[in-house]
Amino acid sequence: MTAIPALHTPPTAFTPALPRERAFVFVGERLWLDFVNTDSVRAYDVLRDFDALMSWFEAAALVDGERSQGMRRRAREQPSGAMATLVDARRVRAALRLLAERGTTTGSADQVRMDALGEINRVLGRSAGTRRLERRSDGTYARTFVPVGDAFAGLMIPIVESAADALILGELQRVRRCADSRCGRVFYDSTKNGRRRWCDMATCGNRAKAARHRKKLRESAD
Ligand SMILES: [Zn+2]
Repeated sequence: MTAIPALHTPPTAFTPALPRERAFVFVGERLWLDFVNTDSVRAYDVLRDFDALMSWFEAAALVDGERSQGMRRRAREQPSGAMATLVDARRVRAALRLLAERGTTTGSADQVRMDALGEINRVLGRSAGTRRLERRSDGTYARTFVPVGDAFAGLMIPIVESAADALILGELQRVRRCADSRCGRVFYDSTKNGRRRWCDMATCGNRAKAARHRKKLRESAD
């Protein structure tokens, strides 16, 4: 397997202190793409520490409050284990970003897919535990994985399973990067005509609309 380069590693000293909820955006339409979008969308890493990683998992409804609290407690007792988990999550994320952006289009697409496959199987292969169906407090149901041994080990499973689904279902052709070159978000285009261009109409789509409008005004003023 070839090494996966980190695409962006902004210095943590410049991490702006934004409220967490604002930093979590779920526009990818697929879990693995939402996870990829935590890397550098706002020019800094949303997953700045283990705590942020857990907050994201909670926001994505992958862990409930109770499990999240348990993990955070565990992280305080075992900071090196928590740090290793964070580093590993970023490593998986870098592989998945490459898969999202270059999994179909470039000459190295085959290699990119093989590398992603290696990462997916690495995560799946090291975790032992029990799969369960659980009823959430809001009455909905979710598949969960209860790891035995290392509590952190199973965390990434739903993410890599989501990416595995994309490969199994042949969805990569429909994975796009936002048409705004300043925006790094990726998403699954589920529109009928396959012409979704923006990660989010409220932000990038709107900016493009406003720019077109300004251009029109300038032209009519000439
Ligand atoms: Zn965008």
